[in-house]
Amino acid sequence: MERPDRPHGPIVVTLGLLWFRQDLRLSDHPALLAAAGEGSVVPLVVLEPGQLTDTRGPARRMLRSVAALHEATGGALLVRSGDPREVVPQAAAALGAQRVHISRDTTPGGRERDEHVADQLQTDGAELVTAGTPHAIGPGLVHTGEGTPYKVFTPFARAWREHGWPQPADHPSEDIWRRPDSAAVARIGEDALAAVLQAGAQDAVDGPAGERAALVRWRTFLEDHLSEYDAGRDRPDLDATSRMSIHLAHGEIHPRTMLADIAAHPAAGSDAAHRFVTELAWREFYADVLWHRPDSAWQDLRDALAALPYDEGPETDRLVEAWRQGRTGFPFVDAGMRQLAAEGFMHNRARMVVASFLTKDLHVWWPVGARHFLDHLLDGDLASNSHGWQWVAGTGTDASPYFRVFNPVTQGQRFDPDGAYVRRWVPELAHLGGKAAHTPWDHPDGYDHGYPERIVDHAQERRETLDRYESTREGG
Ligand code: FAD
Repeated sequence: MERPDRPHGPIVVTLGLLWFRQDLRLSDHPALLAAAGEGSVVPLVVLEPGQLTDTRGPARRMLRSVAALHEATGGALLVRSGDPREVVPQAAAALGAQRVHISRDTTPGGRERDEHVADQLQTDGAELVTAGTPHAIGPGLVHTGEGTPYKVFTPFARAWREHGWPQPADHPSEDIWRRPDSAAVARIGEDALAAVLQAGAQDAVDGPAGERAALVRWRTFLEDHLSEYDAGRDRPDLDATSRMSIHLAHGEIHPRTMLADIAAHPAAGSDAAHRFVTELAWREFYADVLWHRPDSAWQDLRDALAALPYDEGPETDRLVEAWRQGRTGFPFVDAGMRQLAAEGFMHNRARMVVASFLTKDLHVWWPVGARHFLDHLLDGDLASNSHGWQWVAGTGTDASPYFRVFNPVTQGQRFDPDGAYVRRWVPELAHLGGKAAHTPWDHPDGYDHGYPERIVDHAQERRETLDRYESTREGG
């Protein structure tokens, strides 16, 4: 695509172009402050054309987040559609901006895209300036005394806490936004604002999007749930976790803000607060692993199980489809998969159990499940997702997990003790009271309302998995 010429004559820099990506907020935003330091700021979002036409939840959620940002900037946000590799340099040239400010994107695709944009800007005599990341400590900055990355979580988390993080950044002044003249705006990509505003006006199952919604949810969690977090976080039948992952995935809040709020909370020294911070550390750990090993997004991190045989073919496809639809005949697995389909969210305990079921009961390679998750999760995060899957599959950061095969029935009985989670998501089992919802096969009326029979024999598939692992390890 042709870029308009840079204006002739000396350029007086009076504006900073801020390219928002997964940092759709105004508070605690170092790149926004850096852009504001130039005088005034033109805020820009560039959406790939596919994002505008994608009717699935994650793409819609992204648009709603952009719509909220548009409102928060008082309508100053430029929303464009196109390939950012072209649109961003085009925008810088049209506006006469010498610097484009971003928060660093540390994912493999983001790094590649940003390198391309930086090269193009440099060719045009401009510059891509980075400040901050979506993490409390930027990936790559926590390392061992020898300067090598941590391979397992516990020492990483200890070093991460010891390293510490800066206090949240200041809020910029209210009148920083610059609305460029319409001739310049017309030269930048295709206007996508109408599609974004339309998506923003729609109701959604996950509640309101945007920074204000993120802060409301966060404060409610701090006040009502943080002190009980440790006790309840593993129970999908309770509303005990923060559900901040969706807001974090879009950068509607920065984790540093959350860490500062926890440090100032009356429960700051409690086990519950410690545990919550540890969960945020998992997010940082996985981002760090992906930073050092970009190939691990879709390939095994460790090659110890590279020779492990996986199932494929029409019969496996049929079983995988039953898994996707939440019709495996295992109530806890089906409840998780149906929560995902209905809400674009799944409780962490259910994520682990459904991932174990796909990889160890159906013997399917983890990227098949990871892809399905990213297609549906509103909190989809490449690092946490791929490495959450690999942790369960045994190919990732957990050193000796090959013998861990979650039992989908006892997991349900333990973490959903009254069967409430199953009954909420699997209406065919709503007539079974208490724990009975986890074992319809033990009850004469268990299948009266159309619930499917179990698609595999768990005990048999568990043995099969352990046999495959053992022979792969011996062979290796
Ligand atoms: P809370 O319990 O309130 O935790 C607070 C925050 O800590 C979360 O918002 C999240 O940012 C972080 N966190 C908690 N647990 C983990 C974890 N195990 N790994 C990394 N970060 C964590 N999380 C995502 O954000 N995006 C994903 O795409 C994703 N995919 C996953 C796939 C699998 C197979 C598994 C097992 C886990 C995955 N997770 C993912 C991690 C975890 O399930 C979610 O972060 C959590 O369920 C979100 O709910 P919450 O915000 O209420 O969590």
